[in-house]
Amino acid sequence: MPNLNKLIVVCGAGGFIGGHLIAELRRQGAKHLRAVDIKPLDEWYQSYPDVDNLVLDLQELPACRKALEGANQVYNLAADMGGMGFIELNKGLCMLTVLINTHLLIAAREQKVERFLYSSSACVYAADKQVDQNVSGLKESDAYPAMPEDGYGWEKLFSERMCRHFREDFGVETRVVRYHNVYGPLGTYDGGREKAPSAICRKVIQAKLSGNHEIEIWGNGQQTRSFMYIDDCLHGTNMLMDSNFVDPINIGSAQKVSINQLVDIAEDIAGVKLKRRYKLDAPKGVNGRNSDNTLIKKVFNWEPSIRLEDGLAKTYAWIYDQMTKKAS
Ligand code: NAD
Repeated sequence: MPNLNKLIVVCGAGGFIGGHLIAELRRQGAKHLRAVDIKPLDEWYQSYPDVDNLVLDLQELPACRKALEGANQVYNLAADMGGMGFIELNKGLCMLTVLINTHLLIAAREQKVERFLYSSSACVYAADKQVDQNVSGLKESDAYPAMPEDGYGWEKLFSERMCRHFREDFGVETRVVRYHNVYGPLGTYDGGREKAPSAICRKVIQAKLSGNHEIEIWGNGQQTRSFMYIDDCLHGTNMLMDSNFVDPINIGSAQKVSINQLVDIAEDIAGVKLKRRYKLDAPKGVNGRNSDNTLIKKVFNWEPSIRLEDGLAKTYAWIYDQMTKKAS
């Protein structure tokens, strides 16, 4: 557990993971919390009046200095990102996120923060390790020789190394997590930045509510992934933040499913069966990706374990609520 009596700063707190992290730190009793995001406060997924909420563009160094003033622990979850539909079409924007982590690290060094966590991604893994749908899990060493996802993945890999060198050269205690697809309520489910689990929930709900029992699936539906529920993500993140483990580490579910199986689960939750149309020219990412959890089990004797069926039911319920509220 981080030191709850000192200032903890969550960057990207208006987003999905950052919002849940602030909520979790409040639950744990953190006394001094600062939440920072570029979005106007009324667009944050979660915000709390007892938290020091700052709206700042963290691509700017002065903003990073302001954000980290007096900080003891920093979580960097800020990124200009989204699902495959966003990152395949916005490589320049994804690369510019490098400014956020770079400037935050400079500010963290100046402020002598005790811990700095950087949120990397499974998109750092080399493309040639992910050509087969029957991929075995990706282990941490599979990031090299480097050939990550263009744009977004290169930025993540570069920023990971920047964390390492700030730790080695300047003594900033960095921790680096490689998240594999995280999902849950209170995140993006429409507008173009959403990821597969929430996009599939939304499409199934739309089909159910409209009575048009069809669904469009990006790719042939056979691409495989794993999806981690937000509660596991938070647990793993805090465990890492609290530890002396300094190398990049996977935090992801090892429950591999195809996109077709993901749709099966969402259909079961909704109680519908839909006709599937496959959009083969849509952005679909690599053919197969899963998390190898050998390292995290060895280091923490733990791995994410919330079943997709259970986490998706909660996510579906939240999205259903949002969509029916909007419609009424
Ligand atoms: P998100 O998009 O919901 O949250 C990111 C937040 O960063 C947004 O609220 C956005 O407004 C903010 N942001 C963007 N540019 C900013 C800027 N210049 N200054 C301040 N804030 C800025 O994303 P998320 O799902 O919560 O992801 C959090 C982190 O975890 C990101 O670094 C992401 O790359 C990483 N990650 C997420 C997943 C996932 O499946 N959700 C998987 C792998 C890695």
